Order: sequence, then C-alpha cells, then structure tokens
Amino acid sequence: QNNILFIRTLMILLLSCRISKLDLCFSSVSSSLKAIPLEGHLSFEANEFAAKDYGNLHHSFPLAVLYPKSVSDIANTIKYIWQMGPSSKLTVAARGHGHSINGQSQAEQGIVINMKSLRQKMQVNTGESPYIDVSAGELWINILHESLKYGLAPRSWTDYLHLTVGGTLSNAGISGQAFRYGPQISNVHQLEVITGKGEVLNCSEEQNADLFHSVLGGLGQFGIITYARISLEPAPKMVKWIRVIYSDFSIFSQDQEYLITAEHTFDYIEGFVMINKTGLVNKWRSSSFSPHDPVQASQFVSDGRTLYCLELTKNFNPENADTVNKEIESLLSQLNYIPSMIFISEVPYVEFLDRVRASEVKLRTKGLWDIPHPWLNLLIPKSKIKDFAQGVFGKILTDTNSGPVLIYPVNKSKWDNRTSFVAPDDDIFYLAAFLFHAVPSSSGTGGLEQILNKNKRILDFCKEAHLGVKQYLPHYTTQEEWRAHFGQRWEVFARRKSAYDPLAILAPGQRIFQKAI
Ligand code: FAD
Repeated sequence: QNNILFIRTLMILLLSCRISKLDLCFSSVSSSLKAIPLEGHLSFEANEFAAKDYGNLHHSFPLAVLYPKSVSDIANTIKYIWQMGPSSKLTVAARGHGHSINGQSQAEQGIVINMKSLRQKMQVNTGESPYIDVSAGELWINILHESLKYGLAPRSWTDYLHLTVGGTLSNAGISGQAFRYGPQISNVHQLEVITGKGEVLNCSEEQNADLFHSVLGGLGQFGIITYARISLEPAPKMVKWIRVIYSDFSIFSQDQEYLITAEHTFDYIEGFVMINKTGLVNKWRSSSFSPHDPVQASQFVSDGRTLYCLELTKNFNPENADTVNKEIESLLSQLNYIPSMIFISEVPYVEFLDRVRASEVKLRTKGLWDIPHPWLNLLIPKSKIKDFAQGVFGKILTDTNSGPVLIYPVNKSKWDNRTSFVAPDDDIFYLAAFLFHAVPSSSGTGGLEQILNKNKRILDFCKEAHLGVKQYLPHYTTQEEWRAHFGQRWEVFARRKSAYDPLAILAPGQRIFQKAI
C-alpha cells in the first residue's frame, strides 16, 4: 500500500511539474507575442467565444485572440510565428463569424484572428461590370445593404447572410443561384491574401493566379484573405417565391434538372425533403404562402408519404409584374408537381435573401439557436442521385423533425476546377444538406448521439454503394481520409500547402496538416 501511495504522490508531482512547465512555456510565449508591433491588440483573456462555433460540438481554447486594426497586424503576427520556425507549436486560425460546424475556425493554444475587427469601408464600383471591394471579415448581409444603395447586389449567395466573406470563400458559398452563376468562389475578381510566411499578396486570374485559385475553396490552408472584390448585378425589388410539391423523387429531380439547364428559367432553384412532416404544408397555409387553389390544397392527404418540395423564385420589379406572372405560368406549366400542391408568396428581395434570419430570431427566443448542430453536407453526382434518395429518404432517415434536409442540383460547368474545391465527377451534382439540430439533453430520437449515428449510417451507405459522394464543408480526422476526399487533386493541394504555408501554421481546426515540430 505504501508503494502505491508513493507512486501516486510521484505521479502527482510529475504531473504538476509538467503543468507548471507548460504554464511557464505558455506564459513565456505570451510575453514574447506582446513584442509584435500592432495597431490593434492581442487578448489573452475572456477568449472562450473563440473555442465555440455554430456546431457546438468541438471546443479548442486558444492562447490568444488577435483583434487586428490593419492588414499589417495580421502580417506581422504570422511573420513572427513563421520566423520562430518549426520549434514553435503556435498555429493561427482566422475566425470569420465562427459559423463552422466542427471547430474549423479554432486553434488549440494558438492564435485566433477575429476577422470582423478588420473593417475597412466598402467601396462600390458602378461601371459596366459592377463590383464591391470589401474586407474579408465583412458579413454578407452588410454587403447586400451597401450595394443596394447603388441599386446593385451580389449575384451568388448562401441561404444565410450572417457569414463572412472569408468564411464562405474558404468553402464555396452555395445557394439556389449557383446553378446559373456558380458558387460565390466563381464570383470573385481579386483577393488580398497573407500567406503562412506573412507575405501580403494581391491575387487574381492575372496576378499570382495559383495563389488565387488555391485560396478559393482552400479551407483556410494557404493564406488569410483580408480583402475581396465581388461581382455585382442590378438588384430586383421583389421576388415571387413558389413552392410546389412532389411525391415521386424521380419526377422531382427530373424537373429540377430540367430547370437548371433550361435557357429561360427561374432565378433561384432549391428543394427540400419532408418525411413524416405533414404539419409543414398546413403551416404554409397560415404563412405568407397562399395555396394557388385553397379548396384542392385542403383536400390533399399525404398518408405519411415522403414529399419533395421544389422551391423557386423569380425576381421582378413592380412595373413588370404582369410579364413576370406570364413567364412563371409558362415555366410552371412544364413541371409535373401534384397539381393542387402549389403555394405562392411575394416578398421584397432583401426579405427573401435574409429569410433564415427570421428563423434565427425565433429560435433564439426559444433558446434553440446555441445548441449542437451536427450538420452533414454532401455532394452527390447526378448519375447516383436516385440510388442516394432510395437508400436514405424513408430508410436511414425516417423523419425530418431534427431539421431541414435540402436537396438541389447545380451545373458543374459554373465551377472553376482550378480552385481548391473538389466536386463529384458528373456535369451536374446535387447538394444534400442535412441541417440537423440536437435536442438539448435528449438521449432519444433527436439527441446528439442518435443524430451522429444517423450521419454515420448515411456516410457508410454512400461509401458501400460507391456513390462517388464528396462532403461539402468537409470534416475528417485523418490525413488518409483527406487524401481520399481530394482524390487525384491531393498532390496539387499538398504542393500548394508547401508553397504557401510550409510550416502548417494556418487553419489547424481543419485537421488536414499538422504543424511540423
Ligand atoms: P468561420 O466558421 O469563421 O471560418 C470557416 C473556415 O474558414 C475556418 O477554417 C477559418 O479559419 C477559415 N476562414 C475564415 N475567415 C477566413 C479568411 N478571411 N481567410 C482565410 N480563411 C478564413 N454554406 C453555403 O455554402 N451555403 C449555405 O446556404 C449556407 N448556409 C448556412 C446557414 C447557417 C445557419 C450556417 C451556420 C452556415 C451556413 N453555411 C452555408 C456554411 C457556411 O458557409 C460556412 O460554415 C462558413 O465557413 C461560415 O462562415 P464564417 O464566417 O462563420 O466562417
């Protein structure tokens, strides 16, 4: 017994020694960081927010948070760490709005850069090909409001606008306009980037083109974007917002594919799945959506079937409402939805684009916004979409009560294969977004474990059925999985890493490369 006591005491001593050595190590790093010349400041306290994100699943605590006031603040910090060489463990993560799911904007005992504090005045150019120059920490909602002052707006969006430019450009930025304009990464003219060596470089198709393409969809691996030039187009005032329902997946997806390839079509094309969720259709009847034929719509019985909703919009200005109504009628006449199941609404353009904000406000009041969000986003080639739907909807996924499940196709020709983004092989691929939330403290259906298990079953099914699926906003824990994700593009990705961030200082939360120490 004395021996056990002795060993325990020894271990406690060793451990506390190790901890105090670590403390010493961190405190000496902290004081050396204070030597970096900054216009803004580094904060070593009250940084818990930087260990949290929208997913609320991963929590890595940083050593410090940088609040930059200038581009040089970021460049000086990175250069300082770069010059420390491989002996330092310090890493750096840019944090946009922290709306990642799996800790991608976190840095364990590293430095998190609060990109929103690097604010420069937005500049709109109203020339023949209009654009806006913005800081990468700017939220898309602010860009919308600024460009609307000139009657303009960006062309390609995400469904939710309270995300930063740097955050969405590091992934892709996909929504219902992507079939026509490509994702947000296809709508950028120019960037300013700080590499993992602390160099500040401008890049575009013409200048430092490899860096430009690397950074777009680059998961923050090659540099920190500090500024972006984004395409604009004339903004409409209003949108007609239409939902039509199908009970057959093949017919639904056939209509979606028809619409995204047609010359004259809608301005926004998405879709979602409803499983055991008949209440939703009833809910629309009491919302701003009106059924085209209220009597027939009220007679519709879903009988527990899985339903698919095609969601469309057509932009218009009040003076051309009649022409647009005719165009919509003609387009709808070519679709094969359940005839009584058509719901129409008319809202200002801004209200449509900022639609998710309304849900956020409601969820916040119920305490249901800051809960775990075990999201799964998949890209599925067109040739396998029916196999995917057959294997997942109604089988692995037996209800959609844990959150919306979006599914819609995009045209691959609108994506630039020189960027770091990897897409499935076919000319058309679908985004399937399982936007789940976990019911707090539930251990049953809707609880975190159950949802994570469901996500795993979906991923396993895709792998076993060889569907050629890629993850969007990817999350893997081993380099082997990352290699499989990038496939033949891995070599290029790894070469770019060694060119622009050879010490693997940047975006450690993606867990692709480990800092060599
Ligand atoms: P963060 O979470 O802060 O950062 C994401 C990653 O980018 C991190 O690795 C970070 O280090 C890196 N990063 C951030 N800023 C920079 C920078 N300036 N330079 C270099 N790297 C940087 N995505 C879609 O495509 N379509 C959607 O419709 C859509 N809807 C969403 C709705 C909601 C409610 C939420 C929470 C997310 C949605 N997303 C959507 C996902 C979203 O686009 C990504 O999670 C995006 O990264 C979030 O932006 P952020 O500013 O919060 O980035």
